[in-house]
Amino acid sequence: MTETATHTAGASTPPARFAVPGRIEVNGAVAGRWQTATLTEIRRETPRASTFRLAVPGWAGHLPGQHLMLRLTAEDGYRAQRHYSLASAPDESGHIELTLDRVADGEVSGWFHTVARPGDEIEVRGPLSGFFAWPGDRPALLLGAGSGVVPLMSMVRHHRARGLTVPLRLLVSARSPEELIYAREYGAETTPVFTRTAPAGTPVGRLSSAHLAPLLAEPPAGGWEAYVCGSNSFAEHASRLLVAAGQPVDRIRIERFG
Ligand SMILES: Cc1cc2nc3c(=O)[nH]c(=O)nc-3n(C[C@H](O)[C@H](O)[C@H](O)COP(=O)(O)OP(=O)(O)OC[C@H]3O[C@@H](n4cnc5c(N)ncnc54)[C@H](O)[C@@H]3O)c2cc1C
Repeated sequence: MTETATHTAGASTPPARFAVPGRIEVNGAVAGRWQTATLTEIRRETPRASTFRLAVPGWAGHLPGQHLMLRLTAEDGYRAQRHYSLASAPDESGHIELTLDRVADGEVSGWFHTVARPGDEIEVRGPLSGFFAWPGDRPALLLGAGSGVVPLMSMVRHHRARGLTVPLRLLVSARSPEELIYAREYGAETTPVFTRTAPAGTPVGRLSSAHLAPLLAEPPAGGWEAYVCGSNSFAEHASRLLVAAGQPVDRIRIERFG
């Protein structure tokens, strides 16, 4: 689900007349077409999360922050479909990457983590949702927790791949260093927040106003566009902190996985 702090965007591709400010147009023809994707690689990120690389020859490209709809079909015709954020930056490789947390008893994430092998075929439809997209044109303050960091990582990767100079900062919350997805990839733009265990010398605790205060006290020219992604409770908590610290409500974009 995608929304501002005050507005629920509803379906992923609403008609233009319902568009909220800042929405980036989604190509309806592309978003409505199922395409075959072939799994080419599986990379372990943490004990609970893995990245799945897919070859999608007809992929029309995406913006960082967008997601897709994924569909699995069993031999008896039973189908399950779920939304997944695009983890990879947009490129010309004909491949995309998704990172899935393994949800206990999860139908789709369970299949990916226990059954899926390179060569397997699935179906995807997208990219979807222009609202949570970041085209790389405005200072971005990214707040994510758990697998909520996935669409934010696409933004960080895009920022690096294109050598963008627009300010970008990432605050990422994880239970422990072992559960920090993409841990090896973070650089100076990232502040990790650990809620249960942390490396020696690093405080343990939830994302707090103390983490946000220095960033919001010295905003870049034009101010931050905030992107918040994670569970319902994290999205509520983080967006409340942002508003309390003075971030304008209409410049907070929220994606909930819960
Ligand atoms: C826009 C969007 C983008 C998303 N992107 C990602 C992504 O990049 N990576 C990712 O791992 N997930 C992502 N999700 C969540 C994903 O769509 C599925 O909900 C998740 O993988 C669980 O599906 P499942 O079939 O494995 O579990 P299900 O069989 O649907 O559910 C099994 C059990 O787990 C509970 N459950 C369902 N979803 C979650 C959850 N997210 N966290 C905790 N418990 C849950 C259910 O209530 C149920 O009890 C996204 C969701 C949305 C709406």
